[in-house]
Amino acid sequence: MLIGPNSVVSFHYRLTNDAGQVLDASAEDAPLTYLHGAGNIIPGLERELSGKATGAEFTVAIQPEDAYGERQPELIQEVPRTAFPEGQPIEEGMRFTAQSPQGPISVTVTAVADEAVTIDANHPLAGEVLHFQVTIAEVRAATEEEISHGHVHGPDGHHH
Ligand code: ZN
Repeated sequence: MLIGPNSVVSFHYRLTNDAGQVLDASAEDAPLTYLHGAGNIIPGLERELSGKATGAEFTVAIQPEDAYGERQPELIQEVPRTAFPEGQPIEEGMRFTAQSPQGPISVTVTAVADEAVTIDANHPLAGEVLHFQVTIAEVRAATEEEISHGHVHGPDGHHH
């Protein structure tokens, strides 16, 4: 079966950046499973998987515009130290959820000074070219329920 709209695809992957650093990888016994055509994975990878079959192996470099987008300088902000709860330790690299007019967003602390904290709401992989090494483990047809929900359900029923 070839990967197309409403396929449920399981694949193993290794993700590296331009420098060859491993950013992420699927566990050996746990491939990533997603519903194809539902926007559940980055567009560049979904496009590359289209039409491929179980057992296929490939590598692909995906540009930011087909992945997590370019870094946007306006998403980097300095906020007063007093915006954080008193006594809460704040360190570079910390990630937390902040409220924004668009709803909760994930931000990373990129610098800490006495009075101010710099936070970055860009996706950590924004601006990165993503190098994927992929092996397709399984392709099956999605169930009606999966199609109507727009995501994959586990083998023993419905998990959210
Ligand atoms: Zn569901």
